Amino acid sequence: MTERLPLMAGNWKMNLNHLEAIQHTQKLAFALADKDYEAVEVAVLVPFTDLRSVQTLVFGDKLKIKYGSQDISQHDGGAYTGEVSGPMLAKLQCTYAVIGHSERRQYHGENEEIVNAKVKAAYRAGVTPILCIGEPLEIRKAGTHVEYTLAQLDGALEGVPADQAESIVVAYEPVWAIGTGEVATPEDAQEVCAAIRKRIAELYDAELADKVRVLYGGSVKSSSVAGLMAKPDIDGGLIGGASLDAEEFVKIVRYRE
Ligand code: PEP
Repeated sequence: MTERLPLMAGNWKMNLNHLEAIQHTQKLAFALADKDYEAVEVAVLVPFTDLRSVQTLVFGDKLKIKYGSQDISQHDGGAYTGEVSGPMLAKLQCTYAVIGHSERRQYHGENEEIVNAKVKAAYRAGVTPILCIGEPLEIRKAGTHVEYTLAQLDGALEGVPADQAESIVVAYEPVWAIGTGEVATPEDAQEVCAAIRKRIAELYDAELADKVRVLYGGSVKSSSVAGLMAKPDIDGGLIGGASLDAEEFVKIVRYRE
């Protein structure tokens, strides 16, 4: 079995202007500097307007905080007012782009076709997608959450070749857990994360699936992270609200201590 490097990624959502981003990133860098944390990859996923601030602080830094955007255009350039392209993100040395977050699906009408086009756009630009999938409450109550989530995965990966898919990060984010304070139990999260890995093995092969990092997201806190990380198919967290509190986010990064 491949040793997968755990990833703790903070999704700032639409919070922190570019000056606040500098302060927050400096706090994180300072708090993480006093100990070796190379056993965990740390990333911040920030508003477009913050990317340059974060880049100037951390790029080339030995602290190696990675960063990325919360969305990406499906187009590479042209008359698409308001959009930000993959090549623009690549120029800012973004490692990641979040794609298909439930808030984008819910408020911006992103369907499987758009999510799939965005995954392909990210790969064209050399940016790694953090693909978000997960079921709403009514689907969980109906007991069809695994099928629902796997259908989102199938749609997002349609036509994506193995040499690209092997680097994807998949975040299982049940919608009912996002921003609600209601974290999934480690067992519930593991059930879906294991099913995601199994489906990736079916779509590609077991060796590739073994390399892919599957994160859990939804109200993760320092008090719940260790239980989730103890599960074999959970390779990290996508952290929303708690990533805005530097002290709490650092505790999450250091879940092993
Ligand atoms: C998210 O924004 O992806 C998220 C999981 O948010 P929260 O941690 O606040 O539930």
